[in-house]
Amino acid sequence: MSEVKTNNPKRNTVQRKSVEQVIETAEGPLTVQEIHDIANAQCGVGIATVYRIVKALHEGGQIKCVVLPDGQNRYEAAHLGHHHHFRCRVCGRVFDLHMCPVSLPEGTTLPGGFVVDGHELTLFGLCPECVEKGLAAVDADLEEERACGCES
Ligand SMILES: [Zn+2]
Ligand SMILES: [Zn+2]
Repeated sequence: MSEVKTNNPKRNTVQRKSVEQVIETAEGPLTVQEIHDIANAQCGVGIATVYRIVKALHEGGQIKCVVLPDGQNRYEAAHLGHHHHFRCRVCGRVFDLHMCPVSLPEGTTLPGGFVVDGHELTLFGLCPECVEKGLAAVDADLEEERACGCES
């Protein structure tokens, strides 16, 4: 009468909470792989389970799927307001930008008669960490040149 193959419901809840929290506290939308890396470190969860939880959260409307020009699906909390994304060309991470650089109010009519009621925008460049690493690398090069005592 009892089911043989029940998953441990307590463990399921822990894993689901962990995935929810990873998405909720992320600096930007995450791929399933990235969600898995963090959640797995927290509570030991397999990639297939993460896929299943992400799918359920998506179907439940708790999270949204974001597709950037690199074609990868990423996920973010559904309650975020108007915001944009910044993708770092070096480390590949995607960050939320809590500002809008587009001054194009809803209802603006563009030449040709196109009435704008929204926009999507992805910015590319270097994230602060990679900027710092890049500067550090330049500094290290300079140190090396300085270390060499010969006059050129
Ligand atoms: Zn970066
Ligand atoms: Zn905007």
